[in-house]
Amino acid sequence: MTYDPPLLYDLDLPALQGWIREQGQPASRAGQIFRWLYQRFALAFAEMTDLPRELRGRLEESFTLPGAAPLAEQRGEETLKLLLQLPDGAEVECVSIAMEGLPTFCLSTQVGCAMRCAFCASTLQGCARNLTAGEILAQAALLGARSGRPGNVVFMGMGEPCSIWITSCSPWPASPTRRLSAFPRAKSPSPPSALSRKSASWGSSTWASTWRSRSTPPVRTSAAS
Ligand code: SF4
Repeated sequence: MTYDPPLLYDLDLPALQGWIREQGQPASRAGQIFRWLYQRFALAFAEMTDLPRELRGRLEESFTLPGAAPLAEQRGEETLKLLLQLPDGAEVECVSIAMEGLPTFCLSTQVGCAMRCAFCASTLQGCARNLTAGEILAQAALLGARSGRPGNVVFMGMGEPCSIWITSCSPWPASPTRRLSAFPRAKSPSPPSALSRKSASWGSSTWASTWRSRSTPPVRTSAAS
């Protein structure tokens, strides 16, 4: 979906630097903002206290943050699950799982899913739309604000991550984690070149290597792309 004003998480560092320069501020301010967003998980511009008050005001007018609103929060002994509502009414889930050391974040990449795995309720209504890069990052920010910086991020929530391969990987130059992983159910990924320059490493794992083997459950042969 298109955000008005734009979702701040949808801007990569060069785009934010460009906007900062247009405001007559040094480009280094963009790095400050990225640290607030992806290392401290600030969810409001008012938290960014080392930015000039006037710049915080302009950010407030110019961007949406965080975009997603928690509808429900479910805590278990080692898990935190958030049900989020997006501005168009779509709902997605994300989970933080306690691991030794740093937590693992499990993020959704689509609203619903077209893959029709036999056991999965996320696919019952099909796929309504892809999430934007910023909407995926918003999940990490909302989890990070509650459980701290993750050690791993896996795209194992709602949706097939490789259906939106390019957009799902584009927001991670300021990755809050050391490792990103996808477990695509139906498509064979290859590491995107964009990620090779990033601080986080990339891993992917397909549960089966050919379409013939994938035609048995959990992915049905009639799965849409
Ligand atoms: S790919 Fe994931 S979200 Fe989609 S139907 Fe299968 S298990 Fe569910």
